[in-house]
Amino acid sequence: MFLTPLRRQRLKEAIISYTVFLLTPAYFLFQICVIRPYLTVHLDWGPVKHFLHIVFASYLFTNVAGNMILCVLTDTSVKSYRGPTAAGSYCKFCKQKQPANSWHCTTCNTCILRRDHHCILLARCIGRNNLRYFICYLCHLSISMFYATYYNYIILRSMFDLRTFAATTSRIFSLSDWSIFANSSLILKARLFVCFWYLNLIILPISLNFLVFHLYKACKGLTWYEYKKGKVPVRTHWKRNLAYVFGTRWYLVLLWPSVESPLPNKRAHGTRDLRRETLI
Ligand SMILES: [Zn+2]
Ligand SMILES: [Zn+2]
Repeated sequence: MFLTPLRRQRLKEAIISYTVFLLTPAYFLFQICVIRPYLTVHLDWGPVKHFLHIVFASYLFTNVAGNMILCVLTDTSVKSYRGPTAAGSYCKFCKQKQPANSWHCTTCNTCILRRDHHCILLARCIGRNNLRYFICYLCHLSISMFYATYYNYIILRSMFDLRTFAATTSRIFSLSDWSIFANSSLILKARLFVCFWYLNLIILPISLNFLVFHLYKACKGLTWYEYKKGKVPVRTHWKRNLAYVFGTRWYLVLLWPSVESPLPNKRAHGTRDLRRETLI
């Protein structure tokens, strides 16, 4: 109607992000409340396996939701940083000088510190302060999808009484006659299971693909913006580059979203013999 392109973009992102925020707990509840009782029957699980499954699924969900929430709530604008920075270019929108490697986002309408990209799924810019949460979110999402895909496959395989993955998937993809199921309650369940199965098969490769790409960039010391511009990767050991994204305790951040891991203010370049440091 009378919406400006910017407001239309923000409205679109709000709808997408609210869908993601609602879908995440819905997905977890579906796996725990609907799929899990079937698993205990079909796989003949004892109480220990049953308990471990709930603990592991809850751990994955907490990591996915926690990293997602922290990614959205973390202020990643240049105003959030009070430390020393190398001077960058002048921003004509904010009418102020930016720190080096900072870029203006027209959707967020602010300059973002070491901007990576604007994520339409989370309606948030990804930059220096929240790239860690974004990558951890992708990592736990990929593991969760892999886990869910496997167990959803077990249920569907038993439902259709098939033995292999290929036979089950081709049976689901070619399914048109739902009357093979005995009653309407079973048809509804089968439709729900197949629907989530499709969702698994869409989300898993997308999240894996993004995860590999962002990890590659992090190891090379590049932001998405720099990667697109064809900037040469920073000649530094990959562990140092990871510390620049995940903080000084980079090896722990994957375990829990709220692990303290301060980001360094300075960045080392070059090899051991010829090393220099610059401000962020
Ligand atoms: Zn700006
Ligand atoms: Zn943005």
